[in-house]
Amino acid sequence: MQTYKKFQEHLANELASIRSAGLYKAEKIIASPQSVTITLQSGQQALNFCANNYLGLSDNKELIAAACKAMESRGYGMSSVRFICGSQDLHKELEAAIAQFFGTEDTILYAACFDANGGVFEPLLDENDAIISDALNHASIIDGVRLCKAVRYRYANADMQDLEAQLQAAQAQRFRLIVTDGVFSMDGNVAPLDKIHALAEKYNAMVMVDESHSAGVVGKTGRGATEEFNLRGKVEILTGTLGKAFGGAIGGFTTGKKEIIDMLRQRSRPYLFSNSLPPAVVGAGIYTFRHLESSNVLQEKLHGNTGYFIGKMQQAGFDVKPSQSAICAVMLYDAKLSQDMAGRLLEEGIYVTGFYYPVVPKGQARIRIQISAAHERAQLDKCIQAFIKVGGELGVLKK
Ligand SMILES: *Cc1c(COP(=O)(O)O)cnc(C)c1O
Repeated sequence: MQTYKKFQEHLANELASIRSAGLYKAEKIIASPQSVTITLQSGQQALNFCANNYLGLSDNKELIAAACKAMESRGYGMSSVRFICGSQDLHKELEAAIAQFFGTEDTILYAACFDANGGVFEPLLDENDAIISDALNHASIIDGVRLCKAVRYRYANADMQDLEAQLQAAQAQRFRLIVTDGVFSMDGNVAPLDKIHALAEKYNAMVMVDESHSAGVVGKTGRGATEEFNLRGKVEILTGTLGKAFGGAIGGFTTGKKEIIDMLRQRSRPYLFSNSLPPAVVGAGIYTFRHLESSNVLQEKLHGNTGYFIGKMQQAGFDVKPSQSAICAVMLYDAKLSQDMAGRLLEEGIYVTGFYYPVVPKGQARIRIQISAAHERAQLDKCIQAFIKVGGELGVLKK
């Protein structure tokens, strides 16, 4: 009792300091399915421009039907990890479909990409080896690397000179693995995989790409960063999520060389010690990859939308980060301005989020817009008009 009282005080103080620094994260509650048009708890309707719903599949009727069908035929939950009694035919089907999509040899499913990244390094590499990681890699990669005994090297974001220097230093180790996000989520830039792959060849390194924000989005048919640079099947390890372009529910995967996946099934801790994905999620995943195998309509619409939107925003005079993805970062630099602007945009019916330190570097506050294949031209135009109106009021447009 007395112990908790002290701890409670400690937490209350910490929380108060988070609040007073303006860094307290409050959840905004949606009372409708995830979609382009959402209803907030207040009853207000808004156009959503900040979901990872790149292909618009989050509320797709056929996907929901596939999930229901799988749940009816295979049940609700697995009550087991994969290797005890938690593997159904559907899991194997989804793993094969993901390998086909990326042109890889085999796939292992996880509860989330956070787990895929958390469980990929430690079983494969040890203190004799080196991991060379981009400074802007996702938090789950950073955590995964921490769990592994390999020697760590870090290079500045997409900086090939720095990568080369780190690779030279890492010649001291036995095996080398370069790790990068496919798309960096705060800026929208694509990792220069052609150059990374060339340096890997030169310095005898393997490559791992986290395709979470690039899969379904980047590349002519949305196969990700490896498609963009003609490297399908040539990268040893890919990780990705089912929680973004591919329906947005939950689930992650590692896909790549056969022996690597086989070793992960033997030793990857989040795979061995965490529950199997439920049949509904797996059934919907199979539907998604089959559908994307048969048609590129969604990817093409997304590419059209993205080009149109970013072009119009630049024309309007916004300071937009160069992007090769469906992410459009409107730079505002000032944290408070990013919050004020997002608040004003919501009043105009546009739902976006302002990001500031520590999510992005200090003095680099921005609003990140995410485009979806589900956005119609008129909705993109409404968003652009709202940005111009509010941006004008707040004086953020370049003359
Ligand atoms: C979103 C994301 C993840 C986490 O994926 P989950 O499946 O939601 O755990 C991992 N890596 C990158 C690069 C991401 O963008």
